[in-house]
Amino acid sequence: MSRDSVPAALQRRVRERAADRCEYCWLSQAGQEATFHVDHIHPRQEGGLTTLENLALACVSCSRRKGAPPHAEDPPASLFHPRWARWEDHFDVTSELLIAGKTPTGRATVELLRMNRPLVIAIRREEALRGRFP
Ligand SMILES: [Zn+2]
Repeated sequence: MSRDSVPAALQRRVRERAADRCEYCWLSQAGQEATFHVDHIHPRQEGGLTTLENLALACVSCSRRKGAPPHAEDPPASLFHPRWARWEDHFDVTSELLIAGKTPTGRATVELLRMNRPLVIAIRREEALRGRFP
């Protein structure tokens, strides 16, 4: 919805900065048919700006789930923030290629974005064979 209003040049910079990976679950764009979204971290409807600092590359699954918290009262602040936090500080990848939250924020994000769905784990295994995950 709001991604259409992100200028193409800005979208390109976000994709480059993210190295064409979802900044939440680290999925690579390379193996996916659906184009990843340039997402507003702080939603536009809540005053989030269309600036490099407030944009993140998100796969379609993470983008959709992130925008629809199950409970309206859930503070979005508890979600992992790709600009203010380092991924490695909040998440681990297990030997089975599950993403494990190391912090309350990491765990809440894994839960909300449902990062360990069986299909996603199967995709991660394929990606790992190609050297694209983690
Ligand atoms: Zn993702």
